[in-house]
Amino acid sequence: MKTRRDFIKISALGTAGIAVAASSFSYAKGSGLFAKDATQSLDDSDLQRTPTYCEVCFWKCAGWTYTNSTNEIVKILGNDEDPHCNGRLCPRGTGGVGMYHDKDRLKTPLIRVKKEDGKSTFREASWDEAFDFVAANMKKVGAEYGPESIALFNHGSSGHHMGHLLQAFGSSNIVAPSYAQCRGPREVGFGATFGAEIGSPEPTDIRDTKCMVLIGSHIGENMHNGQVQEMSMAIDNGATIITVDPRFSTAASKSKFWLPIKPATDLALLLAWIHVIINEELYDKKYVERYTYGFDLLKKHVENMTPEWAYGITTIKPDVIRKTAREMGNASPSVIVHPGRHATWYGDDTQRSRAIAILNALLGSWGRRGGFYFKEALHVPHYPTPAYPKPKWSWKEAMNGKYPMAGLSVSNSLIDASIPSDDNKYQIHAWIVSGTNLPLTMPDKSTLKKAMDALDFMVVVDTMPMEITGYADVVLPECTYLERFDDLRVEPHRVPSIAVRMPAAKPKYDSMPSWWIAKKIADKLDLGHYFPWNDYSEVVEWQLKELGTSLEEMKTLGVKKFDRESGALYMREGEDFEFSTNTGKVELYSTELAKHGFDPMPIYTAHPEPPSGFYRLIYGRAPMHTFSRTANNPNLTDLMHENAVWINPKVAKLWSIKKDQYVWLKNQDEQVSTFPVKVRVTERIRWDSVYMVHGFGHSNKNLKTAFGHGASDSEMITNVMIDPIMGGTGMRGNFITFITEDPGKEAKL
Ligand code: SF4
Repeated sequence: MKTRRDFIKISALGTAGIAVAASSFSYAKGSGLFAKDATQSLDDSDLQRTPTYCEVCFWKCAGWTYTNSTNEIVKILGNDEDPHCNGRLCPRGTGGVGMYHDKDRLKTPLIRVKKEDGKSTFREASWDEAFDFVAANMKKVGAEYGPESIALFNHGSSGHHMGHLLQAFGSSNIVAPSYAQCRGPREVGFGATFGAEIGSPEPTDIRDTKCMVLIGSHIGENMHNGQVQEMSMAIDNGATIITVDPRFSTAASKSKFWLPIKPATDLALLLAWIHVIINEELYDKKYVERYTYGFDLLKKHVENMTPEWAYGITTIKPDVIRKTAREMGNASPSVIVHPGRHATWYGDDTQRSRAIAILNALLGSWGRRGGFYFKEALHVPHYPTPAYPKPKWSWKEAMNGKYPMAGLSVSNSLIDASIPSDDNKYQIHAWIVSGTNLPLTMPDKSTLKKAMDALDFMVVVDTMPMEITGYADVVLPECTYLERFDDLRVEPHRVPSIAVRMPAAKPKYDSMPSWWIAKKIADKLDLGHYFPWNDYSEVVEWQLKELGTSLEEMKTLGVKKFDRESGALYMREGEDFEFSTNTGKVELYSTELAKHGFDPMPIYTAHPEPPSGFYRLIYGRAPMHTFSRTANNPNLTDLMHENAVWINPKVAKLWSIKKDQYVWLKNQDEQVSTFPVKVRVTERIRWDSVYMVHGFGHSNKNLKTAFGHGASDSEMITNVMIDPIMGGTGMRGNFITFITEDPGKEAKL
């Protein structure tokens, strides 16, 4: 196997750029989590505003980018009309201006070349050279193995432009790690139950709920903007919050009940709750009778799954299980057992999500006020372009019969398909990677490395020199979301809406928007007819006209709401309703899972325990950062520049580890962290677990602010438990111990 893809430290970076003025960070510390206008000192009359929607996370809050008289971006504020944010951005969204000002941004195209000593390096290239290089390699791989052998890994708005290019070329192998590494299991679990996926933003009617259960979902630390605001409203209105988490999270601190569950046992608790709700007749009888399928089978299934049975597994006392079940029953149907977002934990995650969906079904919360509303999105017509050629095979064939209920392509499958082997009939030979830092996103780095080593070619499109750029053959610098047009935001909500993103300033350095990058590569591939526009504003303008508005109007509005057309937000009393399942009912017993040979109702199975002297690794989010992509943002690192490992005081004492001491982590497979991490000794974590915020521990020195700050949780995830139903990568089966002497890994970088 080839191993030519040695990691390049991008030494050529920085020479092509202009000096950057100091950033004008507009988030005022101590002003609360959400900034309404944290820059009162700036005189707005001097500023010009341009509509945008935030790209710092997937919530896509709409806002205004403010520029000064020299056309520098100075602040970003929320759009009052936007249902995603209600005029308030979170700290990360306000800090988005730091992405624009970041001095470490990619500044010019780079092409991998071999030095005399045989090692690789990057040389700066013109855009035209870079496009020739990309097109020549795409043509070569396409001619040799077929266009299907090129895959796109993407995250965020840019992915659509690169996806259009790839489909025009003849491949539909397009994948986002946000499915198999994050929310996929809940989509399949809810889909199998209600015939409808959750999607984003989640249609949780939090503002009107009377009771919300958070099971491993820490709203408030993950800044899902509208949800956090609604949760605060619900608490003010007296809603009961029940938080299940081995850690005393921010959400737990706002809860009436905190259930510090033994990790990996959540499914047992959910089944015991189902048992109590059925046996104490706390369920919504009319709803269950009219709309569900398989109630008697479910009742029989959970017969022995009593709170006493669950106590021995979860460490949650039977009376607490009963009490919390009664809280849910009393609030029915205005109750939400939250589906969570990052659901890939233990490899049986679709079944855990199914149990959550079943609980909601019993409580009658789907389609009910204070439960889940029926969301609606606007249909935006496609700008006319030619039909794509039909690929001979796709990610489905590459999965070779595995994961039959995967609704989207599975990133780990396409990574496996990139490793040559005798039984790999559908091999991927080249990758385009757009806006996703796979070395920090994907678990199991050795498989990822094997796949990258075997590739014929890799293009990376990004704004920052993330670790993935070091493995690329060509790096294309994309401008930030504040400097470009993108597609209209049309995510569903209570009422349909659109939001527009327009450039507030010219792209800095030699960076360019991805719509332009995709179009220019297409020109070199003789696929220019798929991109019949000179500027992407023409596409947006055409779509807006079709919707009865215009770019001119949207420039002043930013967000426009439309009337609902699909019917009411909630079910009407006694309404006939057909669900999109095989039976047309809410399936407590899943006929689809049964058809594929899986358990039609969830079953608890025990997961491996930590070996002696090891603790289960749990990871999560902080309000100031999104994944690894914000770790270098100068404005956000002002708020948090490293993560810490949370250790229970009993464990710290046992190891003689002190507060604020730096330790290295070692996992069950002898994987040692490259960097040390600060210790936080706290009662807020169970003794059998450690916790850290995801996204730190960057090892690329070109990320000058982020390099070496904190430890990477994903580096410690070498054991991955794959969900056989949809291919999700369970990542919470890794165990950590501590090293107090420097193992010397960093010195080798
Ligand atoms: Fe941006 Fe925060 Fe909204 Fe995410 S929640 S889109 S980071 S403002």
